[in-house]
Amino acid sequence: MYWIKRIPEIREVISEWTKDGATIGLVPTMGYFHEGHLALMEKARQENDYVVVSLFVNPIQFGPNEDFQRYPRDEERDRELAEKAGVDLVFNPTAEEMYGQGFQSYVEVTEISQGLCGASRPGHFRGVTTVITKLFNIVQPDRAYFGEKDAQQLRVIQRMVRDLNFPVEIKPVPTVREADGLAKSSRNTYLSPEERKAALVLSKSLFYAKEQVAAGEDSVQRLSASMKRMITGEPLVSLEYLEFRESATLRPVSTITGEVLIALAARVGKTRLIDNITVRPGRR
Ligand code: AMP
Repeated sequence: MYWIKRIPEIREVISEWTKDGATIGLVPTMGYFHEGHLALMEKARQENDYVVVSLFVNPIQFGPNEDFQRYPRDEERDRELAEKAGVDLVFNPTAEEMYGQGFQSYVEVTEISQGLCGASRPGHFRGVTTVITKLFNIVQPDRAYFGEKDAQQLRVIQRMVRDLNFPVEIKPVPTVREADGLAKSSRNTYLSPEERKAALVLSKSLFYAKEQVAAGEDSVQRLSASMKRMITGEPLVSLEYLEFRESATLRPVSTITGEVLIALAARVGKTRLIDNITVRPGRR
Protein backbone atom coordinates (compact mmCIF):
# COMPACT_ATOMS: atom_id res chain seq x y z
CA MET A 1 0.00 0.00 0.00
CA TYR A 2 1.32 3.43 -0.95
CA TRP A 3 1.35 6.20 1.68
CA ILE A 4 1.83 9.46 -0.21
CA LYS A 5 2.07 13.03 1.07
CA ARG A 6 2.93 14.97 -2.09
CA ILE A 7 0.62 15.91 -4.97
CA PRO A 8 3.13 15.33 -7.83
CA GLU A 9 3.86 11.86 -6.44
CA ILE A 10 0.23 10.74 -6.27
CA ARG A 11 -0.40 12.13 -9.76
CA GLU A 12 2.43 9.97 -11.07
CA VAL A 13 1.12 6.75 -9.48
CA ILE A 14 -2.45 7.44 -10.63
CA SER A 15 -1.46 8.19 -14.21
CA GLU A 16 0.50 4.93 -14.31
CA TRP A 17 -2.57 3.04 -13.03
CA THR A 18 -5.07 4.64 -15.38
CA LYS A 19 -3.06 4.60 -18.61
CA ASP A 20 -4.61 1.23 -19.52
CA GLY A 21 -8.12 2.21 -18.43
CA ALA A 22 -8.18 1.00 -14.80
CA THR A 23 -10.87 2.57 -12.60
CA ILE A 24 -10.27 4.47 -9.36
CA GLY A 25 -12.53 4.72 -6.31
CA LEU A 26 -11.84 7.57 -3.87
CA VAL A 27 -12.83 7.57 -0.19
CA PRO A 28 -12.27 11.02 1.37
CA THR A 29 -11.77 10.90 5.15
CA MET A 30 -10.32 12.74 8.12
CA GLY A 31 -8.90 9.49 9.52
CA TYR A 32 -9.26 7.81 12.90
CA PHE A 33 -10.99 5.00 11.10
CA HIS A 34 -14.04 3.13 12.37
CA GLU A 35 -16.45 0.68 10.69
CA GLY A 36 -18.20 3.56 8.90
CA HIS A 37 -14.99 4.40 7.04
CA LEU A 38 -14.32 0.71 6.46
CA ALA A 39 -17.77 0.25 4.86
CA LEU A 40 -16.90 3.00 2.37
CA MET A 41 -13.54 1.36 1.61
CA GLU A 42 -15.17 -2.04 1.19
CA LYS A 43 -17.71 -0.74 -1.31
CA ALA A 44 -14.96 1.09 -3.19
CA ARG A 45 -12.91 -2.13 -3.21
CA GLN A 46 -15.82 -4.04 -4.80
CA GLU A 47 -16.48 -1.49 -7.52
CA ASN A 48 -13.04 -0.31 -8.68
CA ASP A 49 -9.65 -1.57 -9.82
CA TYR A 50 -7.84 0.75 -7.40
CA VAL A 51 -8.94 2.28 -4.09
CA VAL A 52 -7.52 5.60 -2.93
CA VAL A 53 -8.28 6.88 0.57
CA SER A 54 -7.49 10.46 1.44
CA LEU A 55 -6.64 11.09 5.09
CA PHE A 56 -6.61 14.80 5.75
CA VAL A 57 -7.99 16.74 8.69
CA ASN A 58 -9.04 19.69 6.57
CA PRO A 59 -8.39 22.90 8.50
CA ILE A 60 -10.66 25.09 6.34
CA GLN A 61 -13.82 23.16 7.23
CA PHE A 62 -13.41 23.84 10.96
CA GLY A 63 -14.62 27.06 12.62
CA PRO A 64 -12.29 29.02 14.93
CA ASN A 65 -13.87 27.53 18.09
CA GLU A 66 -14.18 23.97 16.81
CA ASP A 67 -12.11 20.86 17.45
CA PHE A 68 -9.48 21.05 14.66
CA GLN A 69 -6.51 20.91 17.05
CA ARG A 70 -7.82 18.10 19.19
CA TYR A 71 -9.50 16.05 16.43
CA PRO A 72 -8.44 12.41 17.09
CA ARG A 73 -5.48 11.22 15.01
CA ASP A 74 -3.74 7.82 14.89
CA GLU A 75 -1.79 7.28 11.69
CA GLU A 76 -0.32 3.91 12.62
CA ARG A 77 -3.70 2.39 13.39
CA ASP A 78 -5.22 3.95 10.26
CA ARG A 79 -2.40 2.52 8.14
CA GLU A 80 -3.07 -0.99 9.42
CA LEU A 81 -6.84 -0.75 8.97
CA ALA A 82 -6.52 0.66 5.44
CA GLU A 83 -4.07 -2.05 4.49
CA LYS A 84 -6.44 -4.73 5.83
CA ALA A 85 -9.34 -3.18 3.91
CA GLY A 86 -7.41 -3.65 0.66
CA VAL A 87 -6.73 0.04 0.06
CA ASP A 88 -4.07 0.63 -2.62
CA LEU A 89 -3.03 4.14 -1.71
CA VAL A 90 -3.49 6.54 1.20
CA PHE A 91 -3.08 10.21 0.30
CA ASN A 92 -2.07 12.05 3.47
CA PRO A 93 -1.01 15.58 2.53
CA THR A 94 -0.03 18.35 4.95
CA ALA A 95 -2.11 21.53 5.14
CA GLU A 96 0.84 23.29 3.49
CA GLU A 97 0.70 20.88 0.55
CA MET A 98 -3.04 21.54 0.08
CA TYR A 99 -3.21 25.25 0.91
CA GLY A 100 0.24 26.62 0.16
CA GLN A 101 1.14 30.28 0.31
CA GLY A 102 -1.26 32.57 -1.51
CA PHE A 103 -4.16 30.12 -1.58
CA GLN A 104 -7.39 32.02 -2.32
CA SER A 105 -9.76 29.87 -4.39
CA TYR A 106 -12.92 28.36 -2.91
CA VAL A 107 -15.90 26.38 -4.18
CA GLU A 108 -19.30 27.15 -2.73
CA VAL A 109 -22.69 25.47 -3.11
CA THR A 110 -25.00 28.27 -2.09
CA GLU A 111 -28.50 27.09 -1.10
CA ILE A 112 -28.30 23.53 0.09
CA SER A 113 -25.30 24.41 2.30
CA GLN A 114 -27.52 26.71 4.38
CA GLY A 115 -29.60 25.59 7.33
CA LEU A 116 -29.07 22.36 9.30
CA CYS A 117 -25.31 22.12 10.00
CA GLY A 118 -24.65 25.12 7.75
CA ALA A 119 -26.49 27.35 10.23
CA SER A 120 -24.23 26.66 13.20
CA ARG A 121 -21.05 26.00 11.21
CA PRO A 122 -20.64 28.99 8.86
CA GLY A 123 -18.05 28.24 6.17
CA HIS A 124 -18.02 24.52 6.97
CA PHE A 125 -19.47 23.31 3.67
CA ARG A 126 -17.37 25.78 1.70
CA GLY A 127 -14.35 24.10 3.28
CA VAL A 128 -15.73 20.67 2.43
CA THR A 129 -16.57 21.45 -1.21
CA THR A 130 -13.21 23.15 -1.71
CA VAL A 131 -11.20 20.21 -0.38
CA ILE A 132 -13.33 17.68 -2.28
CA THR A 133 -12.83 19.66 -5.50
CA LYS A 134 -9.09 19.59 -4.93
CA LEU A 135 -9.16 15.84 -4.19
CA PHE A 136 -11.22 15.18 -7.33
CA ASN A 137 -8.74 17.17 -9.39
CA ILE A 138 -5.72 15.47 -7.82
CA VAL A 139 -7.01 11.87 -7.84
CA GLN A 140 -9.44 12.04 -10.80
CA PRO A 141 -11.53 9.16 -9.47
CA ASP A 142 -14.29 7.41 -11.42
CA ARG A 143 -16.33 7.03 -8.24
CA ALA A 144 -16.25 8.68 -4.82
CA TYR A 145 -17.81 7.27 -1.65
CA PHE A 146 -19.64 9.28 1.02
CA GLY A 147 -21.53 8.20 4.14
CA GLU A 148 -25.24 8.90 4.60
CA LYS A 149 -24.33 9.74 8.20
CA ASP A 150 -23.34 13.17 6.86
CA ALA A 151 -26.61 13.63 5.00
CA GLN A 152 -26.27 17.31 4.16
CA GLN A 153 -22.64 16.91 3.10
CA LEU A 154 -23.67 14.12 0.71
CA ARG A 155 -26.34 16.31 -0.89
CA VAL A 156 -24.04 19.32 -1.11
CA ILE A 157 -21.47 17.21 -2.94
CA GLN A 158 -24.06 15.63 -5.25
CA ARG A 159 -25.25 19.16 -6.12
CA MET A 160 -21.69 20.38 -6.72
CA VAL A 161 -20.87 17.44 -8.99
CA ARG A 162 -24.00 18.06 -11.08
CA ASP A 163 -23.62 21.83 -11.17
CA LEU A 164 -19.92 21.84 -12.05
CA ASN A 165 -19.89 18.73 -14.28
CA PHE A 166 -17.33 16.72 -12.38
CA PRO A 167 -16.88 13.37 -14.19
CA VAL A 168 -17.26 11.48 -10.90
CA GLU A 169 -20.03 9.15 -9.78
CA ILE A 170 -21.05 9.83 -6.16
CA LYS A 171 -21.82 6.65 -4.25
CA PRO A 172 -23.74 6.98 -0.95
CA VAL A 173 -23.09 4.37 1.76
CA PRO A 174 -25.61 3.68 4.59
CA THR A 175 -24.79 4.76 8.14
CA VAL A 176 -22.93 2.17 10.20
CA ARG A 177 -24.04 2.02 13.84
CA GLU A 178 -22.87 0.49 17.09
CA ALA A 179 -24.91 -2.54 18.21
CA ASP A 180 -27.00 -0.28 20.46
CA GLY A 181 -27.79 2.19 17.67
CA LEU A 182 -25.28 5.02 18.17
CA ALA A 183 -23.97 6.15 14.79
CA LYS A 184 -20.23 5.48 14.53
CA SER A 185 -18.17 8.64 14.55
CA SER A 186 -14.54 9.52 15.21
CA ARG A 187 -15.92 12.08 17.69
CA ASN A 188 -17.53 9.35 19.83
CA THR A 189 -14.09 8.97 21.45
CA TYR A 190 -14.67 12.34 23.16
CA LEU A 191 -17.65 10.91 25.12
CA SER A 192 -17.39 9.91 28.79
CA PRO A 193 -19.18 6.66 29.72
CA GLU A 194 -22.19 8.67 31.01
CA GLU A 195 -22.29 10.80 27.88
CA ARG A 196 -21.99 7.70 25.70
CA LYS A 197 -25.10 6.31 27.40
CA ALA A 198 -26.99 9.60 27.12
CA ALA A 199 -26.10 9.93 23.41
CA LEU A 200 -28.23 6.87 22.69
CA VAL A 201 -31.36 8.98 22.94
CA LEU A 202 -30.50 10.50 19.55
CA SER A 203 -30.67 7.28 17.51
CA LYS A 204 -33.54 6.05 19.70
CA SER A 205 -35.63 9.11 18.86
CA LEU A 206 -34.93 8.60 15.14
CA PHE A 207 -35.87 4.91 15.24
CA TYR A 208 -39.01 5.83 17.17
CA ALA A 209 -39.99 8.36 14.49
CA LYS A 210 -39.38 5.81 11.74
CA GLU A 211 -41.69 3.33 13.50
CA GLN A 212 -44.37 5.95 14.00
CA VAL A 213 -44.24 6.95 10.34
CA ALA A 214 -44.41 3.31 9.26
CA ALA A 215 -47.52 2.95 11.44
CA GLY A 216 -49.20 5.84 9.65
CA GLU A 217 -48.17 8.99 11.51
CA ASP A 218 -47.67 11.80 9.00
CA SER A 219 -47.63 14.95 11.12
CA VAL A 220 -44.20 16.55 11.43
CA GLN A 221 -45.47 18.68 14.29
CA ARG A 222 -46.51 15.68 16.38
CA LEU A 223 -43.40 13.65 15.55
CA SER A 224 -41.11 16.57 16.26
CA ALA A 225 -42.80 17.24 19.61
CA SER A 226 -42.46 13.66 20.82
CA MET A 227 -38.86 13.39 19.64
CA LYS A 228 -37.99 16.64 21.41
CA ARG A 229 -39.64 15.35 24.59
CA MET A 230 -37.48 12.23 24.45
CA ILE A 231 -34.29 14.17 23.81
CA THR A 232 -34.83 16.90 26.39
CA GLY A 233 -35.52 14.15 28.95
CA GLU A 234 -31.78 13.43 28.81
CA PRO A 235 -30.03 16.16 30.85
CA LEU A 236 -26.59 15.62 29.30
CA VAL A 237 -27.96 16.21 25.80
CA SER A 238 -28.77 19.60 24.37
CA LEU A 239 -30.49 19.66 20.98
CA GLU A 240 -29.11 22.03 18.36
CA TYR A 241 -31.62 21.24 15.62
CA LEU A 242 -34.19 18.63 14.68
CA GLU A 243 -35.48 19.04 11.15
CA PHE A 244 -37.74 17.25 8.71
CA ARG A 245 -36.68 17.82 5.12
CA GLU A 246 -37.64 16.48 1.71
CA SER A 247 -34.92 13.92 1.16
CA ALA A 248 -33.69 14.96 -2.28
CA THR A 249 -33.86 18.77 -2.02
CA LEU A 250 -33.66 19.35 1.76
CA ARG A 251 -36.72 21.62 1.52
CA PRO A 252 -38.66 21.76 4.83
CA VAL A 253 -41.85 19.65 4.98
CA SER A 254 -44.80 19.72 7.36
CA THR A 255 -46.36 16.38 6.38
CA ILE A 256 -44.71 13.09 5.57
CA THR A 257 -45.94 12.44 2.05
CA GLY A 258 -42.77 11.26 0.30
CA GLU A 259 -39.24 10.36 1.31
CA VAL A 260 -38.27 12.55 4.25
CA LEU A 261 -34.90 13.02 5.93
CA ILE A 262 -35.12 13.52 9.69
CA ALA A 263 -31.83 15.12 10.69
CA LEU A 264 -30.56 16.29 14.04
CA ALA A 265 -27.51 17.74 15.74
CA ALA A 266 -26.96 17.84 19.48
CA ARG A 267 -24.30 18.47 22.07
CA VAL A 268 -23.66 15.62 24.40
CA GLY A 269 -21.61 17.30 27.08
CA LYS A 270 -19.21 19.35 24.93
CA THR A 271 -19.27 16.94 21.98
CA ARG A 272 -21.33 17.83 18.92
CA LEU A 273 -22.93 14.78 17.31
CA ILE A 274 -25.16 14.48 14.23
CA ASP A 275 -27.46 11.70 13.10
CA ASN A 276 -30.33 11.19 10.67
CA ILE A 277 -32.77 8.68 9.27
CA THR A 278 -34.84 8.49 6.08
CA VAL A 279 -38.54 7.68 6.41
CA ARG A 280 -41.28 6.93 3.89
CA PRO A 281 -45.03 7.18 4.48
CA GLY A 282 -46.52 4.03 5.94
CA ARG A 283 -50.08 2.69 5.88
CA ARG A 284 -52.89 5.19 6.14
P1 AMP B 1 -14.95 11.71 8.35
O1 AMP B 1 -13.63 11.04 8.48
O2 AMP B 1 -15.74 11.75 9.62
O3 AMP B 1 -14.89 13.02 7.62
O4 AMP B 1 -15.82 10.76 7.43
C1 AMP B 1 -15.35 10.32 6.17
C2 AMP B 1 -16.46 9.65 5.42
O5 AMP B 1 -16.98 8.57 6.19
C3 AMP B 1 -17.66 10.60 5.17
O6 AMP B 1 -18.17 10.35 3.87
C4 AMP B 1 -18.64 10.20 6.23
O7 AMP B 1 -19.99 10.44 5.87
C5 AMP B 1 -18.38 8.70 6.32
N1 AMP B 1 -18.84 8.20 7.62
C6 AMP B 1 -18.54 8.68 8.85
N2 AMP B 1 -19.20 7.99 9.80
C7 AMP B 1 -19.93 7.05 9.16
C8 AMP B 1 -20.83 6.03 9.58
N3 AMP B 1 -21.12 5.82 10.86
N4 AMP B 1 -21.41 5.25 8.63
C9 AMP B 1 -21.14 5.45 7.32
N5 AMP B 1 -20.30 6.40 6.86
C10 AMP B 1 -19.71 7.19 7.76
